[in-house]
Amino acid sequence: MKFVVQVRLFPTPAQEAALADTLRLCNEAANLVSGVAWETKTFRNYDLRVHSYGELKAMGLSAQPAQHVIKKVTDAYATVKAQVRARLRKPLAKPIAFRPDAAQPFDDRCLSWQVEARTVSIWTTGGRMKGLRFACSDGQARALAAYRKGESDLIHRDGMWLLIATCDVPDVDVTEPDAFLGVDLGIANIATTGDGERHSGKHLNAVRHRNRELRRRLQSKQTKSAKRLLKARRRKESRFARDVNHRISKSIVAEAARTGRGIALEDLQGIRERVRLRKPQRVTLHSWSFHQLGGFIAYKAARRGVAVVHVDPAYTSQACSSCGHVDKKNRPYQARFACTSCGFAEHADVNAARNIASRGVADWAVSHAADDAA
Ligand SMILES: [Zn+2]
Repeated sequence: MKFVVQVRLFPTPAQEAALADTLRLCNEAANLVSGVAWETKTFRNYDLRVHSYGELKAMGLSAQPAQHVIKKVTDAYATVKAQVRARLRKPLAKPIAFRPDAAQPFDDRCLSWQVEARTVSIWTTGGRMKGLRFACSDGQARALAAYRKGESDLIHRDGMWLLIATCDVPDVDVTEPDAFLGVDLGIANIATTGDGERHSGKHLNAVRHRNRELRRRLQSKQTKSAKRLLKARRRKESRFARDVNHRISKSIVAEAARTGRGIALEDLQGIRERVRLRKPQRVTLHSWSFHQLGGFIAYKAARRGVAVVHVDPAYTSQACSSCGHVDKKNRPYQARFACTSCGFAEHADVNAARNIASRGVADWAVSHAADDAA
């Protein structure tokens, strides 16, 4: 199971100048390679190396950083290609451009970690730089020391220097669950469990609403400062959403682990379609935020051996979790569930979460019957 650890660097003024110069040069080089890729229509790593290696060396990049620059460019084109194929964006009309401070990957040969001393040694255009200080929590330090693997990204963002490291934790064997904790995802409540635990989206929705209003007001002004303000707000919003998702996933996984249950989530494939039906709230919802929450739950669960199943969410909001009766009229209003057949009443999201839990039980039984037969 992979996850990332982000640490803040504290360079001295001289170190900061070297980092800035390195990032600028790497992105200048990336733009050069991107131009070559575009003009020659070569998007494969090896071909691009043949076409641009000499020029990168002339710019002052040694072999490793040059290869990383080329890989960064081919990865960026591959990502765009995949997004175009998935109809998430239009095809490119010009070469991909990298900002002067765009993230740059470093491998173990260009970057080494001294976790205990909280320093890194990193390749820069001014030579190898040792003793660059960073800060992290004890938990992050343990993860870095035990599980860090592969490349780390150097990023300059909002005036801060950051390193983003990838950690790879071997999965713990999944415990056979006694039952499932169902989780319903939504807008008013981001996540609701079948136990009745509701994680309100009130604060996050307010932040999103405020930013949307601001965006509307500033959109007419195409000034640089307006754009900068919008960008900073967007980042702050996504950081906030990320924190919220971390907190929710932690609480859900801890509760499932404590009670020996698995976790049943809605299959998110259909969430975009489902949300399209609810126009006024549509903009409030970012489906990526649900995907992020699902991802956080999956990796936190894998680390603790908690089973996770994804179930078909159809009619989970209209079906009675007590008697199974399905009826639109079971929802007298948005937050309320009241069964027209058996009289069972509950908060609508809690009722949906319980339906998701029973589907989880059924899906688990079915998939394990298949395992046993195999
Ligand atoms: Zn009922």
